[in-house]
Amino acid sequence: MRQYNPQQRVLVTGGAGFLGSHLIDRLLAQGHEVVCADNLFTGSKRNIAHLHGNPNFEFVRHDVTFPLYMEVDRIYNLACPASPVHYQHDPVQTTKTSVHGAINMLGLAKRLGARIFQASTSEVYGDPSVHPQPEGYWGNVNPIGIRSCYDEGKRCAETLFFDYHRQHGLDIKVARIFNTYGPRMHPNDGRVVSNFIVQALKNEPITIYGEGQQTRSFCFVDDLVEGFLRLMEQPADFPGPMNLGNPNEFTIRQLADKVIALTGSRSPLVHKPLPSDDPTQRQPDIRLARERLGWEPKVQLEEGLRKTIDYFDGLLRAA
Ligand code: NAD
Ligand code: UDP
Repeated sequence: MRQYNPQQRVLVTGGAGFLGSHLIDRLLAQGHEVVCADNLFTGSKRNIAHLHGNPNFEFVRHDVTFPLYMEVDRIYNLACPASPVHYQHDPVQTTKTSVHGAINMLGLAKRLGARIFQASTSEVYGDPSVHPQPEGYWGNVNPIGIRSCYDEGKRCAETLFFDYHRQHGLDIKVARIFNTYGPRMHPNDGRVVSNFIVQALKNEPITIYGEGQQTRSFCFVDDLVEGFLRLMEQPADFPGPMNLGNPNEFTIRQLADKVIALTGSRSPLVHKPLPSDDPTQRQPDIRLARERLGWEPKVQLEEGLRKTIDYFDGLLRAA
């Protein structure tokens, strides 16, 4: 039996990205030592610049498709581009990142006997025919479309996590994350919230793909990270998967209207073609998270958008 060590050494892959950098802030605030491993594909040194000089923080430039050797107590595996624009840029690399990355990080966790967390996604449900989506739903995923590198990569990663759990007794936690937004998203990230806010602040046309009737449920980053930390503390006999997200659902058109209202923007709305396989609706069923973690999101869309708008406003003014 390993001794419980209140100060843990925690590896966060993808830690220079949007979610990873917020997670690292919380782990450091809890007194842990953190190693961030990231190849800076979509992440940025700016997201972790404030940690420079912190003796409990270490950055390693590393691509998770290659093995990593280090000693840690816990691993959060977040490395993977999350925006469709970025994960479709080099789709072969995206699948490798999900699958080889999972194999490498699971191998590390197995050698160390370390608990390992996987940042999975609502995309495992594809274009869902069950609404809202509970964890028991197996999904409706196109295996050969332009989103498949990400969706199937993440599904295969889940398979690997559960096989390591069954076959090797590995202590795993799998979170299925639904659309999350907030400060430190990259201004050219390509996802809808950052696109709309940056376009609105610049008074440039707001690009609605299709008619804008497709829906998403948007979670503010602070709520999500709280869910990560609580899931990670679940006992070893609870591997997940667990949905984490905000169940309040909006059409993309409603999101555009809200962003325009909150920024006072003069941006017109323009319609662009809907990318193929774009899910028509998405809303997490978070009953499991409510029951097991006592968790639910606290920050509603308007409040979260204001904080995110302030962030991008500062970024654009400084540019
Ligand atoms: P992000 O693009 O900001 O962060 C991903 C990070 O992974 C970046 O820092 C990037 O440089 C790094 N990375 C990519 N490929 C790598 C590789 N081969 N080796 C090492 N590092 C690599 O995206 P995010 O929103 O912070 O997403 C983090 C994780 O959460 C991803 O695994 C993503 O799939 C998952 N997720 C996010 C959302 C969301 O709405 N934000 C939703 C579902 C799942
Ligand atoms: N979208 C949009 N305009 C944009 C970017 C995205 O209308 O500039 C739409 C996209 O087609 C999708 C939704 O917004 O229906 C969410 O897209 P995002 O890339 O943020 O994430 P997804 O949930 O599709 O992975």
